[in-house]
Amino acid sequence: MRCKICGKKPIIYMPHHRLALCKEDFILWFERYTQRTIREFRMFTEEDSILVAVSGGKDSLALWYVLRKLGYKADGLYIHLGIGEYSERSREKVEKFAGKLGGKLIVVDLKEEMGGIPELERVSSREACSVCGLVKRYNFNKVAREHGYTVLATGHNLDDEASSLLANVIQWNVKYLGRKHPVLEEEEGFVRKVKPFCKFTEKETALYSLLNGIDFIEEECPFSEDATTLFFKDVLYKIEEKFPGTKMRFYLEYLRKVHPKFKEKKEGKVRPCKVCGEPSPADVCPVCRMKEKVRGIKIISDGA
Ligand code: SF4
Ligand code: ZN
Repeated sequence: MRCKICGKKPIIYMPHHRLALCKEDFILWFERYTQRTIREFRMFTEEDSILVAVSGGKDSLALWYVLRKLGYKADGLYIHLGIGEYSERSREKVEKFAGKLGGKLIVVDLKEEMGGIPELERVSSREACSVCGLVKRYNFNKVAREHGYTVLATGHNLDDEASSLLANVIQWNVKYLGRKHPVLEEEEGFVRKVKPFCKFTEKETALYSLLNGIDFIEEECPFSEDATTLFFKDVLYKIEEKFPGTKMRFYLEYLRKVHPKFKEKKEGKVRPCKVCGEPSPADVCPVCRMKEKVRGIKIISDGA
């Protein structure tokens, strides 16, 4: 097999594109393909100011790196989740990376704000990853709005998107399916959210990060992704092995043919939370209610 562009020995073969590329041509292709995806879904333009949510993992750091290389105004947002040593190590990676990149980094320390994920899990009836998702989404939106960013970008890749799509199709979770799109437009207190890596596989983003010397955190969060997500990723991996290109087709055909029919039906009105002003389904948003609970527990334990 040869690189399709220059004929040199290839570093990767991507069966879903029927494309083999050498190191240099893969890097170029990856950057051009990111640009194409941004334009295809009209995610943003050079005029926008973009906030990239970075966790220290390969996808989010690579996304920040590529967006700046392509000439976009992109800063980073790191949420310190208060998950012991894991959070300390990922924060270090992100800060070092931001220094090298010369990009502005905003850090939110959850422990200081309201308590880390283990603490929040104890006071809520949700599992760690569900609490984590809720407070991350809340802070992404709040920080982006308060700092005047027009777009919030996350590093979700094709494996993330296709596996969560499959999981939600199996449960016919229609409300979720309506929101399954690489662009969620700005509305009622929400900034626009985009996923420019939605057409890259995990293997492709990992290779791009390695080839560019991006020092990302390889260890998994101790809570790790829940078993269901991993199961569906594995199922898709097996299907892909037998029928190359299925994962990409499954996701893109959904966006083209099915998503327009599932457009989210608004359930109840969103209003500003009476405590923090963020958009909320009730008078007080779920994050402020969680904060109240943490404070309640602290008062009891302080008095003990
Ligand atoms: Fe948060 Fe769960 Fe991801 Fe850990 S694995 S960062 S708790 S969502
Ligand atoms: Zn609130």
